Amino acid sequence: MSENTLIELKGLTKRYGYGDTETLALKDFDLEIKRGEFIMIMGPSGCGKTTLLDIIGLLDRATRGNYILNGEDVASISANRQAKLRAKKIGFVFQNFNLIEDLPIIENVALPLVYTGYSKTSRLKQASRALARFHLQEREYYYPHQLSGGQQQRVAIARAIVGSPEIILADEPTGNLDSRSSHVVMEELKAIHEEGNTIIMVTHNPALTAYATRVINMLDGQIDTDIKTVADANLPQPISVRFKKRKEKKVAEKAEVEATIELPKPKNSPKSKNTKSKTKAKSTKATKSKTQNSRRKK
Ligand code: ADP
Ligand code: MG
Repeated sequence: MSENTLIELKGLTKRYGYGDTETLALKDFDLEIKRGEFIMIMGPSGCGKTTLLDIIGLLDRATRGNYILNGEDVASISANRQAKLRAKKIGFVFQNFNLIEDLPIIENVALPLVYTGYSKTSRLKQASRALARFHLQEREYYYPHQLSGGQQQRVAIARAIVGSPEIILADEPTGNLDSRSSHVVMEELKAIHEEGNTIIMVTHNPALTAYATRVINMLDGQIDTDIKTVADANLPQPISVRFKKRKEKKVAEKAEVEATIELPKPKNSPKSKNTKSKTKAKSTKATKSKTQNSRRKK
């Protein structure tokens, strides 16, 4: 396991039901994920993609095998700390957006911060900044049903990244979107990835694999094919905490979670100041050629 390994799955098996109703959703599944990978997972319905994301996202446990997150076996982490880890380190995006209909979008986005110990004012400020990144600042007090599907999914992505998690899990995030909205959502995910975050996304759309650094095809609870299109050495480097002022950062550093789990290395910290504007300024072209370069280097 190299220093850049974020996740290691060893011999994971997930069984649902017993006897006649027994299903093996994952079978002796091995996978090593480096920081900064953008993995797309494809495969027929029922092959175990959602099960895999649920286990990686600490929403479910494997029946057998090991899940090592940041060098720590998840089985040895208490349920309480797992919940904190999940809130702090992992952002989720779902096909159906999963927004709470009777909360304005700013409060939807602020929800993952409830576990962080920030005051409500601070949580709403952070949510507001996250929404601004997705050009939704003027709609902060709209309710989800007042937005288009594409906008709702951008709210969901803002919610996923508001706490600066380093892992984003997305289960068919464009499954309910038209191609134009899909494109906008994918560009946002790409920008988040380029900041050094690790993204694991399930999709049925082969056209989207152009955004990935690695494409895994699953079949019957196992890996069928696994292709890296960007060499590990060329993956984006993590930058330190986003959306946080220094004072807020100090509070966060005191949190139990951070005492036990290493933060991404602030290698590119001078960059982080301008993350927002830089990300916006980057054109599709520029990033495409960057990806191509890294492919060529390989
Ligand atoms: P995918 O996301 O690739 O469509 P899933 O991970 O949802 O696949 O499901 C994998 C297999 O596990 C399927 O056969 C599914 O029916 C079964 N399965 C998933 N969740 C449950 C559950 N909660 N109870 C019983 N069987 C389940
Ligand atoms: Mg699924």
